[in-house]
Amino acid sequence: MAAQPLTVNAAELLRRPGTQKSYTLEVALADLDIVDDPRFAPDARVEVQLDLESLSTGIVVDGEVRVPWHGTCRRCLEPTGGVSVSEVHELYQRTLTDPDAFEIVGDQLDLLPIARELVLLDAPSTPLCRPDCAGLCPTCGANLNDKDNEGACDCTAAPADPRWSALDSLKSVLDPDDRPGR
Ligand SMILES: [Zn+2]
Ligand SMILES: [Zn+2]
Repeated sequence: MAAQPLTVNAAELLRRPGTQKSYTLEVALADLDIVDDPRFAPDARVEVQLDLESLSTGIVVDGEVRVPWHGTCRRCLEPTGGVSVSEVHELYQRTLTDPDAFEIVGDQLDLLPIARELVLLDAPSTPLCRPDCAGLCPTCGANLNDKDNEGACDCTAAPADPRWSALDSLKSVLDPDDRPGR
């Protein structure tokens, strides 16, 4: 079995309820068994920052998982990217009494399944370059975010061809969130 890069020894925490410990760990995507995912650079690093606190019920794990991602804006088709930040709130127990808790095996907390799930779940697969991205002009295909730039597109001033208006309203019914691509 491969070495587990996100395993924390909790023996001391388990011995003394009320103890707190903080960890900042960094792993490669491959360590989370994430390969060939187009949202991430192959060499992207995942940062895991965790605060552990032992209670009588188990060990509470709070923290964040961060990973840089990149993609293509679903409206304007420009490259975009950022850092996906996921919140961690989990309970680990030696003897499972909480149905949502993870099991502590041999005093070890295996944080890898959580980190992997959060990275896969929270990194956007159909991102926007910004929340109010204007998308592309349905007539000429120009990027409408560049509208203030000289000569990007002057279609919006011209009245739409009436022959297409029926199709346009149909499109907005079918696809209310997105402007037609081109
Ligand atoms: Zn955009
Ligand atoms: Zn245009």
